[in-house]
Amino acid sequence: MERPPLGPAGIVVDLAAVRANVRVLRATAGVPLIAVVKADAYGHGMVACARAAQQGGAQWLATATVEEALALRAAGLDGPVLCWLNGPGSDFAAAAAAGIDLTAHSVADLDAMAGAFAGRTTPARVQLKVDTGLSRNGAPRAAWAELFASARAGEEAGTWQVTGVWSHFACSDEPDHPANDRQEQGFREALALAEEHGLRPQLRHLANSAAAILRPSSRFDAVRCGLAVYGLDPAPGEATDIGLVPAMTVTAPLLSVKDLVPGDAVSYGQRWVAEQPTTVGLVPVGYAEGIPRNAGRPDAPDQAATVGIDGKWRPIRGTVCMDQVVVDLGGDRPSPGTEVVVLGPPGAGGPTAQDWAEACGTINYEIVTRIGGRMSRRYVDSEGAVG
Ligand SMILES: *Cc1c(COP(=O)(O)O)cnc(C)c1O
Repeated sequence: MERPPLGPAGIVVDLAAVRANVRVLRATAGVPLIAVVKADAYGHGMVACARAAQQGGAQWLATATVEEALALRAAGLDGPVLCWLNGPGSDFAAAAAAGIDLTAHSVADLDAMAGAFAGRTTPARVQLKVDTGLSRNGAPRAAWAELFASARAGEEAGTWQVTGVWSHFACSDEPDHPANDRQEQGFREALALAEEHGLRPQLRHLANSAAAILRPSSRFDAVRCGLAVYGLDPAPGEATDIGLVPAMTVTAPLLSVKDLVPGDAVSYGQRWVAEQPTTVGLVPVGYAEGIPRNAGRPDAPDQAATVGIDGKWRPIRGTVCMDQVVVDLGGDRPSPGTEVVVLGPPGAGGPTAQDWAEACGTINYEIVTRIGGRMSRRYVDSEGAVG
């Protein structure tokens, strides 16, 4: 029997969806959009998505690390870029030379930046992050005054210009959580204190995707959206339907089909056992591709993650392996080579990233950001031209 050619498992990212999501976010928020493209654009491909976001009207790009921001510049992306995660090796001088906005979280950060900026003839661009309730980075309230004083002194010395002051929500996906009011109030107090210290930051920003959609009072001068740019719902179950379109589709070829009889066990640990005759299919994606190892939910097989084959949802059986998963075909025999939709937008014939997140006890952010491994990534443009 001749086997059909098997295309490899792959990720398809629709750049038209990214552009459309940016447009709808801008229209919803009504303020400039900072498109967050950290972590390889949440698994969607940083440079291509950054370009698409700019085409869709994003006025700013943002990354976590200095290295990611420099990679945007190396790829030829112009325009404002912000980054915020500083480490011992962060090249502040290169970032400033590339016109990137750095974030200072402390006076120690400002001191390190002042050292790195020593040879410059023009002021660098620095934003200040205040911690209003996440206890991650950002200056804690007790350190705001000294941060602002030090930042203002550096401005007066011509070392930098303070271009922004910002903070980050802990609970924006729970709009009724009391922390949101407290954080926004704290942020307003930080802004007032910054002003008392003589700072006039042009870009005050607090909202991530969920807050940009759900909390108008938090929009200030710009919103910092990541997840929503890729079309995923940042607060499932809340009133977030603004017409976002998931940009990522993951497909794989069905490799083979086999029969099981009652008592046949599936995968490592033999944690799923057929109770009746069935057929199972082999799909070449595993935890090396970012599929969570527990996706077959051996503890609760009726909640297992699924894949789509010929428009039917096929549950994963047993433990996810490094390179492959086994799915229950319920007696059907699709031909090897049939396209398996591992995840995609609603209507693509398979589960969504949100469906995967619910099956695996995590959030859609983690599902898409981990997707990768050996899979190729291809860009399409559903409006026509390939991006
Ligand atoms: C990741 C991140 C964002 C984007 O958050 P989303 O919920 O994906 O919109 C914004 N700000 C900071 C500081 C982040 O780390």
